[in-house]
Amino acid sequence: MKDPICGMNVNDSSKFRSSYNGREYFFCSIACKQSFDKNPGAYAKGK
Ligand SMILES: [Zn+2]
Repeated sequence: MKDPICGMNVNDSSKFRSSYNGREYFFCSIACKQSFDKNPGAYAKGK
């Protein structure tokens, strides 16, 4: 998995995660998760 915010590889056991449009996204840190949560449409690419 890739953190959509910073592009780092993260594994899917990361505790920083969000669901958007039926997909689950994983983050390296709470800061990346919060950035995503503020504006998920800007980061969640593809369908
Ligand atoms: Zn990150």
